[in-house]
Amino acid sequence: MLDTVPSSDVRTTRTVSPDQLRDLLAETGAVVHDSVRLSELTTLRVGGPALVAECGSTETLVATVRALDAAGIAVLLVAGGSNLLVDDAGFDGVVVRVATTGVEFGADGVTAEAGANWDELVAATVGQGLGGLECLSGIPGSVGATPVQNVGAYGVEVESLLRRVRLLDRATGAVRWAAPAELGFGYRTSVLKHSDAAVVLAVELGLDPSGMSAPLRYGELARVLGAEAGDRRPVARVREEVLRLRAGKGMVLDAADHDTWSAGSFFTNPVVTDDRLPQVMAAITAHLGEVNVPTYPAPEGAKLSAGWLIERAGFAKGFPGEQSPARLSTKHTLALTNRGAANAADIVALARTVRDGVYERFGVLLEPEPVTVGVNV
Ligand SMILES: Cc1cc2nc3c(=O)[nH]c(=O)nc-3n(C[C@H](O)[C@H](O)[C@H](O)COP(=O)(O)OP(=O)(O)OC[C@H]3O[C@@H](n4cnc5c(N)ncnc54)[C@H](O)[C@@H]3O)c2cc1C
Repeated sequence: MLDTVPSSDVRTTRTVSPDQLRDLLAETGAVVHDSVRLSELTTLRVGGPALVAECGSTETLVATVRALDAAGIAVLLVAGGSNLLVDDAGFDGVVVRVATTGVEFGADGVTAEAGANWDELVAATVGQGLGGLECLSGIPGSVGATPVQNVGAYGVEVESLLRRVRLLDRATGAVRWAAPAELGFGYRTSVLKHSDAAVVLAVELGLDPSGMSAPLRYGELARVLGAEAGDRRPVARVREEVLRLRAGKGMVLDAADHDTWSAGSFFTNPVVTDDRLPQVMAAITAHLGEVNVPTYPAPEGAKLSAGWLIERAGFAKGFPGEQSPARLSTKHTLALTNRGAANAADIVALARTVRDGVYERFGVLLEPEPVTVGVNV
């Protein structure tokens, strides 16, 4: 298994000027942009300035990260910026923008470079009648970030489709294909998350040429497709319904809709261990009376629904109201959103209020799902 390495955010960094950076990267092919605001590169649209080295080819990406690592300069990889909450002070190292795009289809799979747009890839596989990715339709961001937090939706996680992942191992500088077993996948995590261990350069996904979806596992999706759990449906139909369901929850990016100025679900669904579960259930009953608490099996206990806990703790959709620049989405309590004028501090303050409220009422500590840079929730 690949070792995790603390991310740049907690490593010492050497400050570098744009001219020094240009000299350092002269041979790599990276395009250097001075003082870009990270609010322009992230879907929460918050985050201060940083130097950006844009990498349009895999060779450039490898050479750039190798050069920065050798010089001891902190690196923040940014692709679609849809799972990042960056401090208003920005990033005091170099943002390496993953801007590769290559995609190659096979009869029963696809290989794509890290910077390729994930949902465009899903649409293309569906268009070719390849099954497997349809439940992951509409997730913003890049192909290369999907293994980082083992993206998942509607009962499918990317782990189940990955054949192999091409990595730049930053400890050795070597480029190699890694097997999924090396990446320590879990629920919304892997050894790549919160870690400077490796850069994902490409992924290879195994798909089903039958034109049928993976067996449906998510009740709400199966219902709208008139199916039972375990049934399969034509991939294009499943993609259509997934996009419709997601849009209803503000989970498909739409620049005109502030409910989508978010990082998606802000908190992961908490896993409560078996020994603590009775205590949590007692706290829920004490506050709400006898209620049906949604729980899902998890290896060490039970997974609860973060959205359900947030709502039952008294945080309604749109909380705390129209005067606030950062609010819960009006469609989905699990998304923290920027109404246009929010900064990172506003998002962090809202996240803490919600996290503390849930903890006080039910004794469950919610953990943020996005990667935070320079801020602590
Ligand atoms: C509206 C909305 C809905 C969402 N819905 C879902 C969902 O249903 N399921 C889900 O799992 N997620 C969801 N997300 C979260 C997000 O879209 C995914 O995590 C996505 O994979 C992030 O991709 P990105 O390219 O934007 O990553 P970024 O935000 O650019 O980066 C995220 C992290 O990955 C690192 N990283 C990026 N590229 C690489 C690389 N090539 N190699 C190594 N590290 C890298 C970054 O340094 C950072 O730590 C949603 C987000 C939004 C805004």
